[in-house]
Amino acid sequence: MSLRQIAASLVVLTCFPQAAFGADILIQDTNAPGKGLNDPTQVSPVGLNFGTTRGQQAIILLQYAATIWGATLRSSIPIVVDSAFVTPTDDARFVCSSTAGILGITAVAAFISTQSLPVPAAGYPVALANALLGEDLTPGEAHIISRFNASVGTAACLQNQSFYYGLEGKPDAGQDDLLSVFLHEFSHGFGFLSAVDAASGSFGSNPPSIFDFHVWDVTDATPWQSETDAQRQAVADSVGALALQGQALAAAVPDFLEYLPTFSVDVPGLQNPVPFAPAGFSGPFPLAGAPVIAAQPLDGCSDLTNASALAGNFALIQRSGSDGGVTCRFLDKANRAQDAGAAGVILFNDQPDAPLISPSGSPALSIPVGFVSLETGTAIMQRAGVATVIGTFGQTALRTGVDSSGDRVLLYTPPTVASVSSVSHFGTGATPALLMEPTIQPSVLYQLDLTPAVLSDLGWSVVKGLSVVVAKALDPQIYPNQDPSYLLTLVNRRPLAANDVSLNLTFPAGATILSMAGACTTGTFPCSLGTVAPGAVLLTVVTLHVPSAAPDPFVVTAMASASNPSPDDVLLSTSVVPTVLSTGCSSTAGGPTLLGLVLLLLLVPQSPGRRL
Ligand SMILES: [Zn+2]
Repeated sequence: MSLRQIAASLVVLTCFPQAAFGADILIQDTNAPGKGLNDPTQVSPVGLNFGTTRGQQAIILLQYAATIWGATLRSSIPIVVDSAFVTPTDDARFVCSSTAGILGITAVAAFISTQSLPVPAAGYPVALANALLGEDLTPGEAHIISRFNASVGTAACLQNQSFYYGLEGKPDAGQDDLLSVFLHEFSHGFGFLSAVDAASGSFGSNPPSIFDFHVWDVTDATPWQSETDAQRQAVADSVGALALQGQALAAAVPDFLEYLPTFSVDVPGLQNPVPFAPAGFSGPFPLAGAPVIAAQPLDGCSDLTNASALAGNFALIQRSGSDGGVTCRFLDKANRAQDAGAAGVILFNDQPDAPLISPSGSPALSIPVGFVSLETGTAIMQRAGVATVIGTFGQTALRTGVDSSGDRVLLYTPPTVASVSSVSHFGTGATPALLMEPTIQPSVLYQLDLTPAVLSDLGWSVVKGLSVVVAKALDPQIYPNQDPSYLLTLVNRRPLAANDVSLNLTFPAGATILSMAGACTTGTFPCSLGTVAPGAVLLTVVTLHVPSAAPDPFVVTAMASASNPSPDDVLLSTSVVPTVLSTGCSSTAGGPTLLGLVLLLLLVPQSPGRRL
């Protein structure tokens, strides 16, 4: 089914209310009746998602994603996202097997090049061009076209995976957080994508996208878009060869990307720092040294008997064959050392010439924990027989995920070009993981990390303050005597905390609050949220009861305040939807126009099978 055919089957337009200073992002449901966003399958509520059908839950998630981005970007022109779930049969781009597959694909409906835009030679995604020019250049058409995989969890497609439909970012093992998928795909639609065919290096008949103007060829130290097709092709399949650059991105890197810890030991003959992998459950790594003392027993599979020797020092503990068991996991070994008073834990392998692993588990310890090779562990043991061995934690010279400049962020350029994901994503070496990597990482929640900075560099006006958006969930109409729910999303885009934050909501006389869930559970407004950390995304789901004499339109207004206001704050948002018969935002005839370039992307779940 072509995109045009999908659009022609449009059945619902779910629209969003006016956001006073952010962006209105409208979700256009283009699934056929009974399919995808209209799937009537009954489901139980999950993680604040109150939808009662599979389709409703997906729409609510899309709307929540729209409020998060709507609180982050500014545009006077509503952004319409044509959205649908499709099967690989509907859309052959959705390559999927039982173990790997594409979860979402997004196309920009049109790229705009004009002398009126800041970089006339660039192709601007139409949503950005509209924002910059204050005009809808393709009236009546969607600006972003997003498709999501409806077959995840079936025998033929990622059979052991499923989507998490909650709004709280708490997927179970084997679940992909669907909201993260939506936030990721929207970002492509806002402009996080290259127009280059990475396999050939060619732009075809298209101009370079504005994103391409920010791609830096690390190998040749030159702007990528200025190179020949052959030069572009030569580096598009070379890990570390391309990076994204921009002023806002460079400024944001220190806020998000971490250095990696290193580990050195004063053992003659060992090259420092030694190969080292931090544990997923490690506490912070201090830049500090201490004697490394072998635990007794060395495998740490029972309470340690040399606590007095370990106190304040780093415990050396060997991996053991029973690591996969219930009682001798890496996490348990490390906890025994922590309980014994150790200041850190060095786990070492029990197999020679084996790759390092990063032990996982939870909850995290308060002390640093890392993993070294059998060779390193053995050398420490031998040296400790004749002298005290001092181990020292340090850190890498560069933050993770950046090129040698320290402020350009590497792009995804795997050795085998992935036509729908190479270049148009960040690389996979960043810590913490980033929203715009080609695969979903469970640690990516809703803070958008570096993405707003990238979009700022592309030309978007990005909110840098406290921002609130209120949106009616599900269909854009009010029915007297019914109980509509609203998504009240508060985002702190400041680099600093917002203090004494309060949220208020006003609605027509006669309406009453039936329930509040999420960040505000007080049952009444105003609601105090206290201190809101930088990057925090707080959702409150408010369900009202509408009286029989409901006004038309039905106006709900959200207001936020903080005791330390900022001129960058966006503290007012209004939902205006019609009551009963009016359809509000009408659908439009015909489908979106796709201008040549269909840019994509791709989220492949991580391969399972991690050994402890
Ligand atoms: Zn992607």
